[in-house]
Amino acid sequence: IVSAVKVGKKFGGHQALADVTMDVMPGEVVCIIGPSGSGKTTFLRCINQLESFDSGGLWLDGELLGYRRVGEALHPLSDKEIARQRRKTGMVFQRFNLFPHMTALENVTEGPVQVLKRRRDEVHDAAMLLLDRVGLAHKAGAYPSELSGGQQQRIAIARALAMQPKLMLFDEPTSALDPELVGEVLAVMRDLAASGMTMIVVTHELGFARDVGDRVVFMDQGRVVETGTADALMSDPKEARTRNFLKTAF
Ligand code: ATP
Repeated sequence: IVSAVKVGKKFGGHQALADVTMDVMPGEVVCIIGPSGSGKTTFLRCINQLESFDSGGLWLDGELLGYRRVGEALHPLSDKEIARQRRKTGMVFQRFNLFPHMTALENVTEGPVQVLKRRRDEVHDAAMLLLDRVGLAHKAGAYPSELSGGQQQRIAIARALAMQPKLMLFDEPTSALDPELVGEVLAVMRDLAASGMTMIVVTHELGFARDVGDRVVFMDQGRVVETGTADALMSDPKEARTRNFLKTAF
C-alpha cells in the first residue's frame, strides 16, 4: 500500500533522508527504529505530506503522492488533490494535539463533520463505537484537561480512525507518557493491528516492535540501514550499526 523509492529530503545543507526505499503491504505493521535525528519523523511526515521530499517517489494506495505524471513530466497536484490524498492516512503524534476546548466525543466527530461534511448526528454513533473501541466511551463528555495522557492519546487514535484511513502512522505515540500509561496505548495499537489495519509505527518500544511488528526497519543518518522480521533484526542484526544501536539504546 506504501511504496517509497529512493526518497530524499534536505533541510538546508542537511540530508534528513537519503535514498529511503521501503514497501508496506496491506495489513502489515512496520516499526521504524533508530537514533534521534535519523529521519524517522521526516519520513512519516513525507508520507502524510506534511513535508515535501526533494527526490525519489512515494506511492500510497497506487497513487504517486503530490504529483501527477503527464507524459514524461511531473506536475504538482492542486491543494485540493493533496488534501484528498492526505485523507488516506491517519497520524498520531508524540503529543496528543487534541482540541482542548472540545470534549472527547467532539474531538472524534470534528474531522468527519468539518472535512467529510457528514452530519453530526450521523457520525455520533460511529464516534461512540470508536470511543468504545479505545475503552473510553464513558469519557465521551470529558475535556482533554480532565483526561490522563494515556486517555488523551487513545482519543487521538479514535479521532484519526474516524476519518477511515487506509494507513495509520504513529510517531513515537508513547514517548511523552508516564511509564504506567504506556501499556494502555500500546494495547489499543495492538488491537488495531490485529483488526488488520496497515500501520507504520516509529517507536522506542522494542517489545511492541517484536510482538506486533511484522517487520522492523532500522534507520540511521537518513538511511535505511537494515530491514527484517522483528525477531531476526533484533536477535541477529546483520549490520554493525544496528547491533550498536540495540546494545546502547536499550
Ligand atoms: P527523533 O527520534 O529525535 O524524533 P527522528 O529520527 O524522527 O528523530 P527527524 O525528526 O526526522 O529524526 O530529523 C532528521 C533530521 O532532520 C534531524 O537532523 C533534524 O534536526 C532535521 N530536521 C527535521 N525537521 C527539520 C526542519 N523542519 N528544519 C530543519 N531541520 C530539520
